[in-house]
Amino acid sequence: MAKYIFVTGGVISSVGKGVTAASIGRLIKSRGVKVSIQKLDPYLNVDPGTLSPYQHGEVFVLQDGSETDLDLGHYERFIDENLLASSNVTTGQVYSEVIAKERRGDFLGGTIQVIPHITNEIKRRIGRVAAETGAEVVIVEVGGTVGDIEGQPFLEAIRQMRKDVGRENVLYVHVTYVPYINATGELKSKPTQHSVMQLRSFGIQPDVIVCRSDYPIDEALKDKISLFCDVEKRAVIPLVTAKTVYKVPLILEEAGLGVFISERLDLPPEPDLAFWRHLVAAIERPKPELRIGVVGKYVALLDAYISVREALFHAALAQGYSVHIDWISSEDLEKGRGLERLDHVAGIVVPGGFGYRGIEGKVIAARYAREHKKPYLGLCLGMQVMVIELARYALGSDEPNSAEFDPSTKYPVIDLMPEQRAISEMGGTMRLGVYPCQVVPGTRAAAAYGEPVVYERHRHRFELNNQYRDLLASAGMVFSGLSPDGRLVEIVELRDHPWMVGCQFHPEFRSRPGKPHPLFSGFVEAAIKFAKSNE
Ligand code: GLN
Repeated sequence: MAKYIFVTGGVISSVGKGVTAASIGRLIKSRGVKVSIQKLDPYLNVDPGTLSPYQHGEVFVLQDGSETDLDLGHYERFIDENLLASSNVTTGQVYSEVIAKERRGDFLGGTIQVIPHITNEIKRRIGRVAAETGAEVVIVEVGGTVGDIEGQPFLEAIRQMRKDVGRENVLYVHVTYVPYINATGELKSKPTQHSVMQLRSFGIQPDVIVCRSDYPIDEALKDKISLFCDVEKRAVIPLVTAKTVYKVPLILEEAGLGVFISERLDLPPEPDLAFWRHLVAAIERPKPELRIGVVGKYVALLDAYISVREALFHAALAQGYSVHIDWISSEDLEKGRGLERLDHVAGIVVPGGFGYRGIEGKVIAARYAREHKKPYLGLCLGMQVMVIELARYALGSDEPNSAEFDPSTKYPVIDLMPEQRAISEMGGTMRLGVYPCQVVPGTRAAAAYGEPVVYERHRHRFELNNQYRDLLASAGMVFSGLSPDGRLVEIVELRDHPWMVGCQFHPEFRSRPGKPHPLFSGFVEAAIKFAKSNE
């Protein structure tokens, strides 16, 4: 039977509960124990697929095609395991399931209630992770902060788990925020005390308190938190804001959290963190800087492109560079603002997206990259934009477009496949999850991958329209990645350009620290070359 670590948050959100959970995962994995992670999201959406990035940041796509919370990206990057759909549970999923059962008559006339029906369904879904992955330890992060109305059934479920699997097999970790008061120059433990009081009111006494703070937490404050919250002093773990999130596992281990968890859950005490220490040392070593421009719609919102940012970071790190990302608003470019920013970067990335807003700015960025022979990496929408731009150039017309943005365009160079048109419900036609892609020998894509068949994660509705392959090829486009049946173009690149590549999938979701994604590596290598030749 699996053991469980439940991670809750208090005081405020967005202080790194996800990174903390992911880091604990790394500490467990480093002890040779099979670990998996799950996020319980109390919102009512069935999944974040329909959520605007403004609401919830990036949607992270798993191998099996599930659209999940961005914390799953942290989990995969930190524990280096591919997660499954069961790793992201929402209130929407739980209620849909229970109500569907009720309609089928499964409850035989009983009254359906939050306790036990909803909580049982939550517990069933918690249990599924270990059953599907064989994990010995499952870390379960509850989204939001204690006290949120939506979160209550989840807290009740994880409370019951203690009795269900035995108290020696569960550990409760509470992540709080310790604010600094400028006027008096001190850190305050009161919000933490209140948050723990609230957690206790749901019947959960934390075993560990991770105190997030922007300033060092001294012994006296640890004593106070330990006393008021009734947590062993060695289990009060200060976590001062780190320069890089990848340092968090090492900080937690040094603070004694790994050893404490091992003791309490009876896991091997000694971690092997050699790989991780090596990684952090490489991150902290001074390095030359590589400037990359990311041209997107949501650049004001850093959470929207976390995986793209991390993938660039991993690829640059592997080549001894630190990456400085210039976030360029595609809507600004469209209005003629910020064009000079494209001059100051060594490479341009156009990430994924939906909807027409900002598209013309992305076309400008793609045109700039083509004409200035500047390295370009187009991710999903970024590939489609590259195709639109080249078609416009080839035809000497502004008409070519994606049917997504202009349904009546004369030249729908990006379009739905005929079989998709029948299904119109939003989401119904989305191509989601891993699909194989055959890489065409002799191309830049082939040089980057070094493998004939690759498996990449998709999240899109539209595809390159095969009727325009000849036109695009005559303008210098090479179709360097194709579905095994040859019907879908998965990767495109330009023949007469140092490195301009677009892919219909999202390689950023597969990038891990120490294991950069081949296309990002190829792009970064080309950008370094570009920067050097322009010194
Ligand atoms: N909007 C485009 C499509 O649906 C691209 C999606 C994306 O970039 N993920 O095909």
